[in-house]
Amino acid sequence: MKIALDVDGVLADLAGMIIRLYEEDTGHRISRDMITEWEFWVKLSMTRQEFIDLITRSWRRWTELQPIEDDVAEDVEQLNKVGDVDILTQRPAETVEYVKQWLKQHGIKYRRFMWVPLKASKTSFIYDVYIDDSPHLAEKLANTRRTVFLYDQNWNRRVKPAPNIRRISSLDEAYQLLTCGDGFEQGSV
Ligand SMILES: [Mg+2]
Repeated sequence: MKIALDVDGVLADLAGMIIRLYEEDTGHRISRDMITEWEFWVKLSMTRQEFIDLITRSWRRWTELQPIEDDVAEDVEQLNKVGDVDILTQRPAETVEYVKQWLKQHGIKYRRFMWVPLKASKTSFIYDVYIDDSPHLAEKLANTRRTVFLYDQNWNRRVKPAPNIRRISSLDEAYQLLTCGDGFEQGSV
């Protein structure tokens, strides 16, 4: 089984760092509850490019970027036991090396690092299971034979249910579903 594991919003708390940088820049504190959509930067009157720059600046400070779950290395290790885990991450080119260093620093092991440029699509990379927080990825893969474990975040709550999409609130839950089944039909696995 091939598993694609996302970074931002699943392993790393990018939102926390963005909130911090935005406050440093403007003096205004954004509440996490305000980030209810993927394109939340529109609400802040930012352009897409300004937001991409904010992501790049956040990752330049990778040593301060926190994992979302405390036991992230162990959780990924569990997933490594049930399948081949690749990091599948879409991001600005400059941030790739920072992410690799962050993963190493947090003891996160994986098979391959797959970088998806901003102009490409994750759906071109074929996996059995995607662990991701992107509502757009879930919508694109809905009703296909590929399984999406949608990592629960405020910004993906509006994704409509589909037989191959399962909302999870932790990486351990993904592991439990892959090993115990829980009546969940896996796509092509
Ligand atoms: Mg993500």
